Amino acid sequence: MMKDNCIFCKIANGEIPSKALYEDEAFKVILDLGPATKGHALILPKDHADNLYELPDEIASKVLVLAKKMATLMTEKLQCDGFNLVQNNGEAAGQTVNHFHMHLIPRYVNDGQNINWVPGSLSQEELEEIKNQITE
Ligand code: AMP
Ligand code: ZN
Repeated sequence: MMKDNCIFCKIANGEIPSKALYEDEAFKVILDLGPATKGHALILPKDHADNLYELPDEIASKVLVLAKKMATLMTEKLQCDGFNLVQNNGEAAGQTVNHFHMHLIPRYVNDGQNINWVPGSLSQEELEEIKNQITE
């Protein structure tokens, strides 16, 4: 199902043109308009889901298989040196378009990008408390 006024619904279902790298009955893979690196692409499900939490299991289970297929193809064709998969959920996590998408980001030695975080440090007690918060 498409959602009204969702740009990625329109792109995934062909109402808005895009540079498509791949398409099947459930997905379209397009080049990102504001690429981090050469070849930066997005996996878009054709049915609308706001984010990972709302993605049906059947689609979720296919996303990583498709990401692997695209990463393999793109690495061969673009001769990139590495590859990031990035998937943002919620504004706090950097999601700007509320239609689930997975970023496929080819990486090149010295490409000037930095998809990293500042590592924290925790005591064993703090780690235990967080583990318990999640698992209990
Ligand atoms: P995110 O911040 O994870 O929500 O990523 C949204 C991504 O969508 C960004 O990398 C944008 O450059 C990209 N984007 C936004 N609009 C379009 C569009 N019309 N076609 C292709 N990519 C887009
Ligand atoms: Zn949508």
